[in-house]
Amino acid sequence: MGQGLSCRVQEKHGLFTAVQFGDLKLVKSLLERDPSLVQQTTYDRNSALHIAAANGQIEIVSLLLEDQSVNPDALNRHKKTPLMLAAIYGKISCVEKLIEARANILMFDSLNGRTCLHYAAYYGHSDCLATILYAARTSHVAASWGFSRFVNIRDGKGATPLHLAARQGRPQCVHLLLDSGALVCASTGRNGFAGSTPLHLAARGGSMDCIRELLAWGADRLQRDASGRIPYLVALKHNNEGCAALLNPSSAEPLVWPSPLKFISELNQDAKALLEQALMEANREREKTILKGTGYTVQSPSHQDTGSTDDTISEESETELCCICFDQVCTIEVQGCGHQMCAQCTLALCCHNKPNPTTSSQTAPVCPFCRSNIVQLVVAKVKAKVNASDHDLDLDLDLYSSTKVQKLRKPWNLSEGSSSFKGLSGVPSFGKMVGRGSGRISVDNECINKT
Ligand SMILES: [Zn+2]
Ligand SMILES: [Zn+2]
Repeated sequence: MGQGLSCRVQEKHGLFTAVQFGDLKLVKSLLERDPSLVQQTTYDRNSALHIAAANGQIEIVSLLLEDQSVNPDALNRHKKTPLMLAAIYGKISCVEKLIEARANILMFDSLNGRTCLHYAAYYGHSDCLATILYAARTSHVAASWGFSRFVNIRDGKGATPLHLAARQGRPQCVHLLLDSGALVCASTGRNGFAGSTPLHLAARGGSMDCIRELLAWGADRLQRDASGRIPYLVALKHNNEGCAALLNPSSAEPLVWPSPLKFISELNQDAKALLEQALMEANREREKTILKGTGYTVQSPSHQDTGSTDDTISEESETELCCICFDQVCTIEVQGCGHQMCAQCTLALCCHNKPNPTTSSQTAPVCPFCRSNIVQLVVAKVKAKVNASDHDLDLDLDLYSSTKVQKLRKPWNLSEGSSSFKGLSGVPSFGKMVGRGSGRISVDNECINKT
């Protein structure tokens, strides 16, 4: 990809070509012969570091950064930094290396007034996006600018990274940004003027996965853009029928990720993954009715399960059924009191409604069993009673051990090539474990016998 950034300049020294193609040996010898070469730039004022970063030549990036005279924030003709180019081309190792070398994440180019965060979001490189967000949390940016301000940083046209990710159909980036505090109803309009929200742009781009994410985060289907249009009309105008069906204000309101839960201090990551999964599945159930007749179908992950969970499911041993719905297995536990319920019931109890913007006071969610304030939710340990040879063993088996949850989260894993992300429909899920009507599940007998 980065080959697009080549060095059309007639270079006598051959440095840029060697950098582009990753010829470390040649680059070394050229620079040893003439150290001043490192300050040369191409016609577009790209430095060797720009070219190496855009082409993912990590060894050369590292070599160049060892040279104290090399500026990690060198600017090309459009004031793009090497970090921006690495984010554009999705070269995660170069992004990491540049940030490690203290490249500034808060630089704006002159073309669109965008930062590296905008570019990672625009091109859908969620791994780069996550790395930049992490750097923003931990660097001087957080202290001087404020992390949430950085997440909602605007480009020259008033677009936040979330706007760009929604417009380009990058659900994974949309998810990451929302999770990091991106404002779901941000408008591109300035000074109180109406503009487009991320939902308008997702409607235009036609990504149902992005629309699902935004709606689950409480995006407003009735907000109007500068032309007075709601997202539904934008989707219709661009012939995105499936999106229009979800955005139609007369269709069922989707379940919204509970705002009270956002106040639970540092919601346990594994529990959160389960809750998010339950939310998306519940919304898919709703969509089935909405999308009926539009020609669009909802791909339920539970039907395309890899089957790898089969061996952990049997009807034989006892499981803790949720005492609220008597349908699902307890997967969530309230820390402190230890009461358990299923993910769906947790969502329903803590967050049945879309948050009302007029009531500013947020009440902390309480445990439905003992009414104590919920401070933290964790993944429930499944208690399994096992008939072992002589006596009953009470085993605490963590059914949703981190490996399982990792599996669940796999599509969110930040791996290289994130642009190939297929959207939520590809999530191998707990469909069989926590899905509706899935019946009982239990711990693996074999596993118990071994213990
Ligand atoms: Zn339940
Ligand atoms: Zn309780």
